[in-house]
Amino acid sequence: MTIKIGLLYGGKSAEHHVSMQTALAVIKALNTNKFDIYPIYISEEGQWIKGQQLTGPVETVKELSFSEGQQLSPLALAPTLFESKESRPFDVIFPLLHGPNGEDGTVQGMLELLNLPYVGNGVLSSSAGMDKVIMKNIFAQAGLNQVDYVWYLRGEWETAEEDAYRKVEDTIGYPCFVKPANLGSSVGISKCTNRSELHEAFVEAFKYDRKIIIEQGVDAREIELGVVGNDYPECSVAGEIIPKDKNFYDYTAKYEDGNTILMIPADVTEAEYSELEAMAIKAFKALDCSGLVRADFFLTKEGKVYINEVNTMPGFTPYSMFPLLWKHSGVEYPALIERLVNLAIERHQEKQ
Ligand code: ATP
Ligand code: MG
Ligand code: MG
Ligand code: MG
Repeated sequence: MTIKIGLLYGGKSAEHHVSMQTALAVIKALNTNKFDIYPIYISEEGQWIKGQQLTGPVETVKELSFSEGQQLSPLALAPTLFESKESRPFDVIFPLLHGPNGEDGTVQGMLELLNLPYVGNGVLSSSAGMDKVIMKNIFAQAGLNQVDYVWYLRGEWETAEEDAYRKVEDTIGYPCFVKPANLGSSVGISKCTNRSELHEAFVEAFKYDRKIIIEQGVDAREIELGVVGNDYPECSVAGEIIPKDKNFYDYTAKYEDGNTILMIPADVTEAEYSELEAMAIKAFKALDCSGLVRADFFLTKEGKVYINEVNTMPGFTPYSMFPLLWKHSGVEYPALIERLVNLAIERHQEKQ
């Protein structure tokens, strides 16, 4: 039986273009008898456009954007998208969206109201995972080891800039990382080693969010694990990101220069893997995740493990870390997607 997948992609987010690349890859990979893909494009302005069913080959992101289609607000489009006189128009929705307005529980909430099964995390884990401050507070409560952090709202900073910088220097020190609280793909993130860089970093991060987080910088290897499941999550092998000639794993290193090496499996000891695995599962459960996450860690020379974050909808091209981790764990790309679809349906049925 073919599985009808409504694929939501694009999105009103600074990670729009990442989602476009991912959607193209997913559509190409799923162009088999097993799946029928119905693309639904969300423009950067937040308009929704329903495309034709894709059967033939799709080669470029441009072909995917339906620039000439009728643009509607999500609420105007929702009934025609998701309700039909016959049976259910889709078996499952795949919200292949990164960042705010997609990975953050908003779209998940709409899908809940429409009573449709959807791939990946629910409302709570999506929104808690999108906000790095909330996520880290929950991790702290769960006893997970992480670097020190503080946060600011734009208004607080604007009224007392110097105080903010002094507090960062007194509690966190240099080097530190300044990040928008709600984003991904390293957009808006800076590494700072002095006061003037700190000022620039605040300005930059506040372009993307009203809330920012400042973290202690660690000198460590970057290790990531994939987690898949609902009530009984399982971990993939570990992978390591080895950026070449880079200060840190920034947007260019992730998507543009192609210089970063993904080493899978990572060269970690059995004891280190066990700790990473236990922490990934603990983080998954602490945020009440379902479906999938990619858990990002720092591993120091001394063997100390810090959790950096989880991503509730990680990069998903066949060359992204998450699918590659599963490939090396014995789950090929189409099988991984089928597993996620089944988990979505299983969770939906449990709630009925
Ligand atoms: P994504 O969702 O794409 O993984 P993101 O935007 O959520 O990225 P982070 O993963 O938090 O951002 O950080 C991006 C990169 O910045 C990390 O992969 C790492 O290279 C560097 N980095 C972030 N925080 C720290 C830190 N505290 N110490 C050292 N390096 C850091
Ligand atoms: Mg992230
Ligand atoms: Mg992310
Ligand atoms: Mg990350």
